[in-house]
Amino acid sequence: MDIFEAQERIQTLTNELKEHNYNYYVLAQPTISDFEFDQKLKELQQLEEQFPQFAADDSPTKRVGGEVNKEFKTVKHRYPMLSLGNTYNREDLNDFDARIRKAIGDDFEYVCELKYDGLAIGLAYKNGKLKQAVTRGDGVQGDDVTANVRTIRSIPLSLRGDNYPDDFEIRGEIVMTRSGFAKFNAQREKEGAQAFANPRNAAAGSLKLQDSAEVAKRPLDCYLYYVLGENLPAQNHYDNMMAAKAWGFKVPNYIAKAKTIDDIFAFIDYWDVARNELDFDIDGIVIKVNDYAQQQQLGFTAKSPRWAISYKFKTEQAITELLEITYQVGRTGAITPVANLEPVALAGTTVKRASLHNADIIEELDLHEHDFVKVEKGGEIIPKIVGVDLSKRKPGSKKVKYIENCPECGAKLVRQEGEANHYCPNEYHCPPQIKGKIEHFVSRKAMNIAFGEATVNALYEQGYVRNIADLYDLKKEQILKLEGFKEKSAENILKSIEESKTVPFEKVLFALGIRYVGQTVAAKLAEYFGSMENLMKATEKELMMVDEIGDRITESLLSYFADEDNLSIINRLAVAGLKFEIEKEASQESNILQGKSFVVSGKFSIARDDLKKMIRNFGGKNVSAISSKTDYVLAGDAMGPAKLKKAEKLGIPIISEEEFMKMIAK
Ligand SMILES: [Zn+2]
Repeated sequence: MDIFEAQERIQTLTNELKEHNYNYYVLAQPTISDFEFDQKLKELQQLEEQFPQFAADDSPTKRVGGEVNKEFKTVKHRYPMLSLGNTYNREDLNDFDARIRKAIGDDFEYVCELKYDGLAIGLAYKNGKLKQAVTRGDGVQGDDVTANVRTIRSIPLSLRGDNYPDDFEIRGEIVMTRSGFAKFNAQREKEGAQAFANPRNAAAGSLKLQDSAEVAKRPLDCYLYYVLGENLPAQNHYDNMMAAKAWGFKVPNYIAKAKTIDDIFAFIDYWDVARNELDFDIDGIVIKVNDYAQQQQLGFTAKSPRWAISYKFKTEQAITELLEITYQVGRTGAITPVANLEPVALAGTTVKRASLHNADIIEELDLHEHDFVKVEKGGEIIPKIVGVDLSKRKPGSKKVKYIENCPECGAKLVRQEGEANHYCPNEYHCPPQIKGKIEHFVSRKAMNIAFGEATVNALYEQGYVRNIADLYDLKKEQILKLEGFKEKSAENILKSIEESKTVPFEKVLFALGIRYVGQTVAAKLAEYFGSMENLMKATEKELMMVDEIGDRITESLLSYFADEDNLSIINRLAVAGLKFEIEKEASQESNILQGKSFVVSGKFSIARDDLKKMIRNFGGKNVSAISSKTDYVLAGDAMGPAKLKKAEKLGIPIISEEEFMKMIAK
């Protein structure tokens, strides 16, 4: 492809992908498959690497993040971000309505909208491009989270149409969908990370991550509800929201005009029930006077506008009897106590179980056997117990005693300092944990072996596979004995196991299921140490040298490699022929850069990843942040000024691409 063709293709792909992004994330009406989308995105990524000069600033490839913020800049809001007055009762709404009618008469309209339960955000656009995203903070100033917000697919980086003002701000709420939250939390638990209590906390936690690439992986969405600025197309709220929708913002259809207080009550009644069907949490309804001139006439109190109010739904509660507490052992060995309840109707569903999360919560509630408990269904999908009805406590009832031994294997439970959950430490002999490890090992992101939970279960129950190394000794006759397997499907499994031997080292490392070693950490370790052998030899000090590896991960790695059972499994996997080192290109192999660490930053004549590969192939190490231990900074064009300054301050040699090439040519 020549340079002109490349430029044209990049433009075409950029435009197409933007359109598909909009269809998928804003309209929820995709017109191509995920696979086709990924193919196009990959093609664009490759072209942009070859021809970085043609990559658009708002290219869809930039949605994957990459910028890392050590701290967020505090920014003053151009228009203060006031909170609305709120109420839980309808009397107050009647009063609100009466006050407004007294001030401006009866000739006006309300607009009713949902009150999203997420994180308020202000987005500034200049000439149709997203310039800045700032959190509410204290209302006067907030945090600049632009890099993270850019990864949220439903937020347009550049606007559609041409009738938007040159300079305006739009406000909305960043939320995590309920379905996305459930999947995300399950994944976290699987990796041994603390689960989030509800979608709002998960959204807030995500937005404050330092690594925007990590934010890009979180299922975040953004609903917009307020436009501010000069030269807006309309003089009322509703029409401006409709205009914003046409500019490409996600303005949901759950917005309605109302003339009377009864219209408002009807809207509230409807959503008080229908909210259970939404894929995101709302905690109430917002009511605004539509017309800007009338808003101005009504003005503000010290804290909030007089022309708007939010009505909050009461969280529904029910009282029911606690029948029994059972304890689940997760795949990571984490113990979760579950309250089994006398079934009770709550928020449109029948509740039979409630999560108790951990021992502290049981202690806090001072739970006794057969207590009558108050159950609440808030943002959480699983209801929670918020209190005990002491008037119904039976005399002489015993306090709930937390179990001391694992209900699955009998091992004595442990609880590490600072951890909320108890764990079963019997990692390699506790059935759910063994199965969990095998499931994780075969999963798509790890070894990608083509079978699921049911097969793992069957192989385990039959005694054929009791650890991950057993997979490589599996015989066809054994698989054929499992229910539902025929010649062909058994062969497919064996083929898939065979193919897993080509899975790269970093994935193998991730697949081992070492606690706290997720995909990113595994990749960093693989990159740094290059082989299993080096990693296993690494001392605490050496492990701590790796970017983003702290005490917790170091400790976990050291104890993993100190365990005899693990060493024997690793040994068997090595014999089976799994990849235990990163690929080197044989032709270039040399150790001229042995022991030297590099930070590669900026744009080069070749792809950055290729440069990193060369560093590895010559025995060097890639690290992502500059520290006093860095040996060289390999600087290309447009390297960040902060990095440059840091390198200069620490006196680290800064070399150009040309100098680097000379270095390895020696
Ligand atoms: Zn156990």
